[in-house]
Amino acid sequence: MRNDFEIGVFAGDGIGHEVTPAAEAVLEAASAKAGFALRWTPLRCGADCWKDTGHEIEPEDLKRAGKVDAIFLAAAGDPAVRQADGREIMPQVTMRFHFGLYAGVRPVRPIPGVKRVLADPATEGMDYVIIRESTEGLFAPSEKGTLSETEARETLLITRQTSEKLFDFAFRLAESRKAQGRPGKVTCVDKANVFAAFWFFREIFKERAKAFPHIAADAAYVDAFAMTMAQKPLSIDVAVTENMFGDILSDLGAALMGGMGYAPSADIGDEHAVFQPCHGTAPDIAGMGLANPTAMMLSGAMMLEWLAETKGAPEAAKAAALVRRAVDAAFAPGALVTCELGGKAGTEAVKAAVLAELARLDA
Ligand code: ATP
Repeated sequence: MRNDFEIGVFAGDGIGHEVTPAAEAVLEAASAKAGFALRWTPLRCGADCWKDTGHEIEPEDLKRAGKVDAIFLAAAGDPAVRQADGREIMPQVTMRFHFGLYAGVRPVRPIPGVKRVLADPATEGMDYVIIRESTEGLFAPSEKGTLSETEARETLLITRQTSEKLFDFAFRLAESRKAQGRPGKVTCVDKANVFAAFWFFREIFKERAKAFPHIAADAAYVDAFAMTMAQKPLSIDVAVTENMFGDILSDLGAALMGGMGYAPSADIGDEHAVFQPCHGTAPDIAGMGLANPTAMMLSGAMMLEWLAETKGAPEAAKAAALVRRAVDAAFAPGALVTCELGGKAGTEAVKAAVLAELARLDA
């Protein structure tokens, strides 16, 4: 029987409205080739939604998002639209807490053909994944912090329950990467030399590592790890870290891939998952047709892989592989240069190039 999937789509704000249709076209074409269909259910969230309705996500749409097969979210928020306490509208963060999406998966793999950011040839072929814990750490919603005229305090929350699930997720990912020829290693990235919370984090990591004896486990302090990302990226396979550290390191990872428009991500929980590019709404280029839709397309490929795994649908894995091969082929000649890297290729040019390569590929 043919498996079709219902995808809840939040285009959000700004360039979200530009990269979403481009990615939808590519995912539809790849799925059709692999023998199934994606049904898009448009849902509303973001700064415009908040201005119109007073909700960062329409409550009915949040309910609907809990029922669809997967959630595809472009980018939401606008620095010019803020709540009374100065915070921006961030429905993507709300969804992480609401659906318990503790594992933020941020692959760092530059596309061959995209201008290299790291010049050292010894860094060629870097391909690793940062797992950012996404529901607690310095972003824990239960820990509000305090603010007075004289001081401000924030709280870092690490729980055993979430950390165990997070580390198991990271080790399982390293196992599946090892099956595809990667080294099979997980690095715990923390600051265990200064904070008790990170010592606690690392001790739980060491406990969980014992359950995965075929996967190597080591640990690094976050400052040293940032240097490793620039100097010895081939030594990294899977890195797992706290929410704030992961936020910062994954932007560094995006920069090392050529810019925010190349960096896909997934926020995964036990039952639900949201697939979203690492970039924001980029108000500086919104409406100009310049937005690079590659990160949104590759986030879609991650969504197809997750559907394949969780719904037992190998045809979705086939479609994911088609999307990746078409993206690689479109950039391989080096002529498709997006605006982040000083080129002229905008949303439509990237979409057209990827669709043309898809049309050439065999399923
Ligand atoms: P947020 O806080 O919402 O994550 P941000 O402050 O990290 O957002 P982004 O919106 O991600 O900022 O973008 C930073 C800059 O990178 C933008 O101003 C834009 O110039 C560039 N940029 C981001 N995404 C893209 C894209 N898809 N294509 C081209 N340029 C992009």
